[in-house]
Amino acid sequence: MSAEPGRAPGRHILILGGTTEARRLAEALAGTAARVTTSLAGRVAAPVLPPGETRIGGFGGPAGLARWITAHGVTDLVDATHPFAERMSFNAAGAAALTGVPLLALRRPGWTPGPGDAWTFADSLAGAAAVLPGLGGRAFLTTGRMGLHSFAHLTGTWFLVRSVDPPAPPVPPRLEVLLDRGPFTLEDERELLARHRIDVLVTKDSGGSATAPKLTAAREAGIPVLVVRRPAVPEGVAEADSVAAALHRLRYDHAR
Ligand code: NAP
Repeated sequence: MSAEPGRAPGRHILILGGTTEARRLAEALAGTAARVTTSLAGRVAAPVLPPGETRIGGFGGPAGLARWITAHGVTDLVDATHPFAERMSFNAAGAAALTGVPLLALRRPGWTPGPGDAWTFADSLAGAAAVLPGLGGRAFLTTGRMGLHSFAHLTGTWFLVRSVDPPAPPVPPRLEVLLDRGPFTLEDERELLARHRIDVLVTKDSGGSATAPKLTAAREAGIPVLVVRRPAVPEGVAEADSVAAALHRLRYDHAR
């Protein structure tokens, strides 16, 4: 296993990031002897960078990721990408198979409806767009700017879209964009729903606490929620459902 000049040979953990959990994992590992590199896709113009080393941009599929892993002496691969970053999760599994480097998937649990929730599920953004007009006419769309094209043909629906960076066309014709980055408080979400007279919320089943208050605010206001189900994950990959569980699997319990 190679090490860079001046570095003692040891573990090199590559975190595939772009999530709050990936950043928290890098923060927890910062105090250990491990070399930690976080990889970001480069979708966000001004990302919040974690401690440790960072690299930005695609690797070139599973083979490219495998090459990077070998060239940089990676000993542990952690897929901490967003639950909807389906391609990258399969790339990670492919690269782990090609290199023999162990892979751990850090996946936050999905959301489940509770008493008082009126949730409708869709299998994709396109599926959500198909049922949306039957649920409401003023939609708060929190599925991210990348999938907006799936809703672009809905001329009868008014959309409030919240995203970190501005969306690119094609977008729905009746649209207001709110540039913001979570976490969001319940107070924020209540105010937003009321101010824009929202009558339906559209979300991916992202899970996690940073963006969950919108679900509580929708329940309180009696607003239906359209939830896009998570895509499939590669089979046979070890999973951790929290940063603490990931540290345990990586044998860094003391770093919590
Ligand atoms: P994706 O469709 O699964 O991946 C598309 C391509 O982007 C991959 O094939 C890979 O290119 C590159 N890529 C993705 N994640 C990468 C990473 N962490 N480091 C280096 N390259 C990466 O991914 P996506 O849904 O577009 O998401 C992109 C990033 O945004 C991910 O890091 C994810 O964690 C974050 N994110 C996604 C969502 C979402 O809803 N999808 C929400 C919040 C954050 P190569 O094949 O060339 O390696």
